[in-house]
Amino acid sequence: MKPNTQTTIILLAALLLSLLFAFSCDQASRRANASESQPAEAAEQTSAGEASMDYKAKAKEELTPEQYNVCFLKGTEPPGSGEYNKHFEPGAYHCVVCDQLLFESETKYDSGSGWPAFYDSVDSDAVATKDDYSLGLHRIEVMCGNCGAHLGHVFSDGPEPTGQRYCINSLALVFKPAATAARPEAEEPGDSAASQP
Ligand code: FE
Repeated sequence: MKPNTQTTIILLAALLLSLLFAFSCDQASRRANASESQPAEAAEQTSAGEASMDYKAKAKEELTPEQYNVCFLKGTEPPGSGEYNKHFEPGAYHCVVCDQLLFESETKYDSGSGWPAFYDSVDSDAVATKDDYSLGLHRIEVMCGNCGAHLGHVFSDGPEPTGQRYCINSLALVFKPAATAARPEAEEPGDSAASQP
């Protein structure tokens, strides 16, 4: 083999090795970025859901021991015991700690679990979520998006259209009936002209 041919082969081999190394580094970098993004997201959710000390101190004085146990010690009311388990009046469900609007009666359904169930929150900011590995299994904890009080957990076995089941403790909620006074009276046919100035 001529010296020039040998040099060319060596250069080509070196180039090939460089390309392989660069490619594997890129893959490793992508994997590292992907694995880093998950803890970062979880950390964001955690900080959004941490109960503030102000609310905690106020709640200690104003909530019942049972409500405090659920909202700040992540307790669970006994199944079937909650005030809103079989409650289906029109209205809205607020956080018992800070009064944040959380769920509406239109999304409430009977899951048969023994706890109030909703297939959606009133909007994405109303509640916060984070991974929960207590009890030796992975669940997703649901907290008030404003004060961070523990509400319950969300599971992916709910009905359409979301497929979600927000399993929430009654003790973390306050129900407010739909304001019937705010509903406009239905006008009789022909009355509309008479009601105009
Ligand atoms: Fe709250």
